Amino acid sequence: MTKIATPRPIRGTQDMLGETADRFHHVVDMFDRVRRLYGFRRVEIPVFESTAVFARSLGETTDVVSKEMYSFDDRGGESLTLRPEFTAGLARAYLTEGWQQHAPLKAAVHGPVFRYERPQKGRFRQFHQVDAEIIGAAEPAADVELLSFADQLLRELEIADDVTLQLNTLGDAATRDAWRAALVAHFEAHRGELSEDSLVRLAKNPMRILDSKDPRDRPIADAAPGIDDSMSAEAGAFFEAVTRGLEASGVAWTRNARLVRGLDYYRHTAFEFVTDRLGAQGTVLAGGRYDGLIETLGGPHTPAVGWAAGIERLGMLIDAPATETGSVAIIPDGATDAEAQTVVAALRRAGIAATLAFAGKPKRRMEIATKAGAEYALYLRGTDAAEPLNLVHMAKDRAKADAMLPTIRAALPGTYA
Ligand code: ATP
Ligand code: MG
Repeated sequence: MTKIATPRPIRGTQDMLGETADRFHHVVDMFDRVRRLYGFRRVEIPVFESTAVFARSLGETTDVVSKEMYSFDDRGGESLTLRPEFTAGLARAYLTEGWQQHAPLKAAVHGPVFRYERPQKGRFRQFHQVDAEIIGAAEPAADVELLSFADQLLRELEIADDVTLQLNTLGDAATRDAWRAALVAHFEAHRGELSEDSLVRLAKNPMRILDSKDPRDRPIADAAPGIDDSMSAEAGAFFEAVTRGLEASGVAWTRNARLVRGLDYYRHTAFEFVTDRLGAQGTVLAGGRYDGLIETLGGPHTPAVGWAAGIERLGMLIDAPATETGSVAIIPDGATDAEAQTVVAALRRAGIAATLAFAGKPKRRMEIATKAGAEYALYLRGTDAAEPLNLVHMAKDRAKADAMLPTIRAALPGTYA
C-alpha cells in the first residue's frame, strides 16, 4: 500500500490558533473601534484585480510590481493579480463604482495581501493589513486626521511608546524633480560602492536607493542629500501645515529627511511608524499622500492620502489580549447529555459564555474546564438528583465571578433555579 503524502502548507503562509489568532483579531477589533471614532466607512474590495490595476498605479519599476506580485492567467486568458496592497484596488473602485459622489471618501478596509518575498520573522507571502484612506481631499488637515487615526490605534493597542512616527515630505512635482537630480549626482559619485540592485535603481528610479536594505548601500544612502534644499515654497508650506496640525492634535513625530516610500505615486507627506522590537521588520505602519495615483488609472486629478499596517507585525508587539467575558464550564456528573445541552443552551442565550465538557470522567472534565479558564464549574447531577447542581467558583477573579452570579441564576432552567 502506498502511503498518501499530506500536502504541505505554502511557504510564507500561516495557520493561526489560540493566542496568535487572538492577537490578530484584537488588532482588527481595535482598528474597527478607532475607525468609527474617526468617521471612516467600512469598504470591501476584491482580493484580485486585473494585473494592470497594480502595474499602472504602483509603477513597473517598484519592487512590488517587478518581483513580488502573484500574477496568473485565469481560464479566460486574462492576467490577474492577487492584491499586494489595498490602495490601487480602492482607487480602481473609486472610479468604477462612482464613489466620487462620496468625496472626500474616508475608507477603512482590512484583509489578506500577497507578496512573493523571502519569508522570515514578520515577513510573509500571505500577510494581512488594516488600511485607511481619505480619497478626494487635498488639504493638509486630511493628512493630520489620518495620522491621528494611526497614532490612536497604536495607543489603543498600548504600543505607542514602542513605536516612533518618522515623517517626511516628498514635495510637489518641482521639489521631487530637484531632489531627484541632487540624489542622482550624489549616487553617481558613489557608483562603485553601490549594490547591483541599486545600480539598476540608479538608472530607473534613483530615489529607491534611499529605501535599500542592502548594507553596502546604507552608508551612501544615509549620507545622501535630504529633500529640504530642494523644497519649493508651496511644498514647504504644506508640510508645515501638517506638522502644526500634528502638534495641535498631540501626535508625536520625528523628522526623517531621507525617508521615501517604495511606491511611485507618493507626493508631499510620507511617513512610517517604526519600532526597534521587530528586528529588520521594524516598520509596522506606513503611508503617505498619493495625489497622482488616480490619474494613472485614467481618472480625474484626485488628491488622496492613506496608510496600511501589517496586522501580524502589530500582533507581535501587543500584549496577549485578555479574555473579556467570564465563562461557565458545564460538567455533566450524573446528568444526561440532553439535560446538560438544555442548560448550556440556556446560559448562552442569556449571553453567558459556556463550554460543555462532554468527554471523559468528571475529573478529566474538570481539567478541561480549568484549562478553558472558566469562572465557574457547574456540576450537573441531573433533574432527578436530590441536589441537581453544584456551582463551584474557580477562584480567579472573585469580583468578576460574583458579578456573573445573578445572571447565571436567572438563566438556569426552572428545574435548576
Ligand atoms: P518593508 O519595508 O518591511 O518591506 P513595505 O514598505 O514593503 O515594508 P508597505 O508596502 O508600506 O510595506 O506595507 C505596509 C505595512 O505592511 C508594512 O509597514 C508592514 O507592517 C506590512 N508588511 C509589508 N510587507 C509585509 C510582509 N511581507 N509580511 C508581513 N507584513 C508586511
Ligand atoms: Mg516590502
